[in-house]
Amino acid sequence: MITDRVNSIKPSPTFALDATVKQMVRQGMDVINLGLGEPDFETPENIKKAAIRAIRNGFTHYTQTEGILPLREAIVNKFKSDNAITYDPSEIIVSNGSKQILYTAFQVLIDKKSEVLIPVPAWGTYAEQVKAADGMPVFIKLEPPFKLTAKDIEKAVTDKTKVLLLNSPSNPTGAIIDPEELKKIVNIALKYKLWIIADEIYEKLIYTGKHLSIASINEEIKARTITINGLSKAYAMTGWRLGYAGGPKYVISKMIALQGQITSNASSISQMAGLEALKGDQKPLLEMLSELRKRRDFLIKELSHSQNLSFSAPEGAFYFYISVEKLLSKNYPDSTAWCKGLLETEKVAVVPGEAFDYPGYFRLSYANSMDNLKKAVNKINNFLKKNS
Ligand code: PLP
Repeated sequence: MITDRVNSIKPSPTFALDATVKQMVRQGMDVINLGLGEPDFETPENIKKAAIRAIRNGFTHYTQTEGILPLREAIVNKFKSDNAITYDPSEIIVSNGSKQILYTAFQVLIDKKSEVLIPVPAWGTYAEQVKAADGMPVFIKLEPPFKLTAKDIEKAVTDKTKVLLLNSPSNPTGAIIDPEELKKIVNIALKYKLWIIADEIYEKLIYTGKHLSIASINEEIKARTITINGLSKAYAMTGWRLGYAGGPKYVISKMIALQGQITSNASSISQMAGLEALKGDQKPLLEMLSELRKRRDFLIKELSHSQNLSFSAPEGAFYFYISVEKLLSKNYPDSTAWCKGLLETEKVAVVPGEAFDYPGYFRLSYANSMDNLKKAVNKINNFLKKNS
């Protein structure tokens, strides 16, 4: 009765893990959740106040599907000053999270059996959304330190390849594509007439290295790129559901048409909050970044003590992607079993590499307090002692 298309879609493993953790907590267990990909910070006060003002002023009705003009103008300014990309407000769409933007982008760009190149490890949603658009995800398997190269792409291209997905800084590895390499990637993409979907949602969370937006490199590639971003990660606004994208008008207008038949506009209240996030004081973002950097540095130091855990220092986002390949055994034959063991015996939740189409690893999110991270490191060490 259910369609093949929907039957083939896997539910989000990170949300499933979160549900398990919440269930354990309800049963009275003390679980440290390093599984979920959301900042543990409060949405800044100025942003909350803007939303409250919107409610009080009665700004509680439908807006244009693509988002209110002042917000799209603020996004245009953001793209210009942060990313050196010039868009017109008519080339911007605002949606219910960047997840929705990705979904509509795939629906608009992909035909049946079109191939989408996805460098892995990658956020599992990409492949599932490609399948939901009847396309074919084609994985490019990266080796540590997980930095995509133009050569990797050229090896994977076929005459069915339509889109190249880029996510830099990456969830789950924190890797950033080297700016010089990105320029070579542009040449390959133009040579094979690929479309680029550039998910830049972690762009503000960078500790080392430099972010370069592919659409800023030249006009030709800009004309084939959808640049995606959102408010969730940089402004601790995951629950507000606000994402946005810039791209060529004829593509964005189709995304708007599709969104208009699905959800209409993103919440009017969230849009007002998003406007304040982009235009208001950026100090809370910098404070969050500085705290995340402390945690990252702490974990690099602590986790380096273990010879059996190997990882590349993350350059951005708030994750470590850690290999457990040397630790797999009869008791824990794969990373899913290993993570389950860690959760059941030490009550520490991390996401297995299977969720990122790259088994043998786990993702640890350091969007959690320093106290909890310290406890978690001790617990992981206990687990290693018992199982190495
Ligand atoms: N892109 C990446 C790489 C992510 O990790 C996430 C969330 O985890 C998103 C996009 C979606 O974010 P949102 O829909 O909250 O904007």
